[in-house]
Amino acid sequence: MISDALRERLACPLCLEAQGCGSCRRDAPGPADYAARAACACGGPDKVRLEVTGKTLRCPACATVYPVDAEGGYVDLVPRTSVGEVTQYADHEFHERLHVTDAPPVLSARIKVDMMLGMLRPRPGETVLDLGCGAGKFALFTGRGDVRAAGVDVAPFFLPRATREIDLVLGDLRRLPFRKAAYPCAYSMDVLEHLDEPGVAEILLEARRTLSPQGRLFVYTHAMESSWIAGFQRFVNRLAKRIGQAGFLDHEREAMRKSDHRNPIRSHEHFDALAATAGFVVTRRRYYNVVFKAVIEDLLLRIVEQARNGKAAPHAHDHGHEPPAPAGPRTIGGPPPGRFAFFVAQALTLLLKVDVLLFSRVRTGPFFGLMVPVPRTEARSDTPA
Ligand SMILES: [Zn+2]
Ligand SMILES: [Zn+2]
Repeated sequence: MISDALRERLACPLCLEAQGCGSCRRDAPGPADYAARAACACGGPDKVRLEVTGKTLRCPACATVYPVDAEGGYVDLVPRTSVGEVTQYADHEFHERLHVTDAPPVLSARIKVDMMLGMLRPRPGETVLDLGCGAGKFALFTGRGDVRAAGVDVAPFFLPRATREIDLVLGDLRRLPFRKAAYPCAYSMDVLEHLDEPGVAEILLEARRTLSPQGRLFVYTHAMESSWIAGFQRFVNRLAKRIGQAGFLDHEREAMRKSDHRNPIRSHEHFDALAATAGFVVTRRRYYNVVFKAVIEDLLLRIVEQARNGKAAPHAHDHGHEPPAPAGPRTIGGPPPGRFAFFVAQALTLLLKVDVLLFSRVRTGPFFGLMVPVPRTEARSDTPA
């Protein structure tokens, strides 16, 4: 949906206002010197507010007209000039094959959302921004009660309920189309590993500008590290691959999910440094070592799933003959799971929580992090005059 509150927050993704401090001020608003101005130690200029003209939004600085797809339930603010590569998340078939539904998340997805809610603690009346919201599943779960949710993603494949219930923006995380301090809190889950290092740096910088000075940012991603426990997961993965080759589980989907990982974060210290450069400090970190998840979700459930689907590999198809993406609002999603399946999944989710209870202080690659903005005065003192 496109609420009035969302319209108030929108801005041209590429244009910065003229005003700024001594080093980022310019004569006219516009896209010139974006990278340097946005990264200015003062916090950079605000982005140019969009004018409503009929059914579209227009940037008064660069004259770009952005469509509002009211029927599709989102506004399209993807930069019209390239700001870097787009991953295969922009591919319709990719989304179809992840089999997303709008049912509440279960299993490891639920573990991640619960960690996010526990660390971010959205307050009544706050709107939480999902950076890289995908189909909108997590945002739907987050935007309940007095907490609202908004999502931004570069790929326009949203769940039908998401287009009705949460604010949706099509946009590039490296050029967030929002005014300064538009949101009090935001999260990004399973996103940063898909970008290169400059991409991660840009997303953090954009998130810093979009969050209010007392804002919070939660991330779930991974550094290229592993603990002694991770050896168990590697063992399960090898086993799953063997079983997959024998046709007893669908190993292809998991491989696809990870196929475009760039893994830009070398270590937790490296991430701390990237965060500091963007003006954040990491205040809490928990690690995700998986033992129960590896056995239950990556092995047993996939064998059960494959047995139910029949042994014919359901996803082996020829990429040369894909049907074109459907016209009209491009929503995705299969039927929700049956009640019994959902009950079992919830019970298993409780078992998966044991991983977090036992191992979340054992340093490893995958991590949940809470970050808060460093006050600008401190940020300025780090910069040579
Ligand atoms: Zn400045
Ligand atoms: Zn503009």
